[in-house]
Amino acid sequence: MNKDIATPSRTKEILKKHGFSFKKSLGQNFLTEPNILQKIVTTAGIDAQTNVIEVGPGIGALTEHLARAAHQVLAFEIDDRLISVLADTLSPYENVKVVHQDVLKANLVQEAEYFDQAGPLKVVANLPYYITTPIMMHFLDSELPVDEMVVMMQREVADRISAEPGTKAYGSLTIAVQYYMEATTAFIVPKTVFIPQPNVDSAILRLVRREQPAVTVTNEKEFFRLTKAAFALRRKTLWNNLLHSYGKDEISRAWLEKSLEQAGIDPKRRGETLSLEEFANLSNALEANKPIREE
Ligand code: SAM
Repeated sequence: MNKDIATPSRTKEILKKHGFSFKKSLGQNFLTEPNILQKIVTTAGIDAQTNVIEVGPGIGALTEHLARAAHQVLAFEIDDRLISVLADTLSPYENVKVVHQDVLKANLVQEAEYFDQAGPLKVVANLPYYITTPIMMHFLDSELPVDEMVVMMQREVADRISAEPGTKAYGSLTIAVQYYMEATTAFIVPKTVFIPQPNVDSAILRLVRREQPAVTVTNEKEFFRLTKAAFALRRKTLWNNLLHSYGKDEISRAWLEKSLEQAGIDPKRRGETLSLEEFANLSNALEANKPIREE
């Protein structure tokens, strides 16, 4: 087996060889602990049938562990300076393709045609923290049939995604992700295993695709609109948030009142106390009672 890229000494050697300097603006904090990388691969349950997409391979620390375990790995890297580094560090691995592109602009379905055999599809990455949420949503909104995501992010964002109703961390991001995926924090990663060290604590979040969305809604777009509206003004009641987003006129008030009553939800509650089921019931009632307005 090849020598690990991710030991602190080998990482420093590679950085020196290529004259690489970190760009903070690209969220570049590289992992330098092979045990953690192995733990990520184990958490993701990757085997020789698994196809993996990685975001931000850096110098290939995680990519190498993925390549050893998976069928194939497709990795998106935005930084052109890293493309030649990766060609060097990943040269022993024939089952890796590095795509030089901003992952947010990538046509994921088209790029995934690289995989030459069907198998479980997993996203595994140490994400650039400045765009954690957009990347998560890019994958969830795409047509790509991702079975599982095992991703490192700021601990605070992982807490928000895996939060329970009634807690401070619970919000529209929780619902946007948990609608499709079951979310658990797998483990916490100390700052000390990165070069350079980030300012925040990190966590590995594990998301497993549900066979069906967590709740049944008649209009997904309106459901997500409602969940965003409910948390827009954090300290206000649900009623005030709804008036703020849906309108304060007579027709809107009557519509909202009737729908809340039908869904059995007290308008004086705050958005963060509503479960996914309650949001679904309210969204479905709003859809059913939608007023027909004259042009
Ligand atoms: N995987 C490596 C590791 O664990 O050591 C590096 C992880 S580092 C936190 C994030 C990586 O994402 C960097 O290599 C950075 O250049 C890359 N990156 C940042 N923004 C990106 C984007 N929009 N698309 C693709 N890669 C991006």
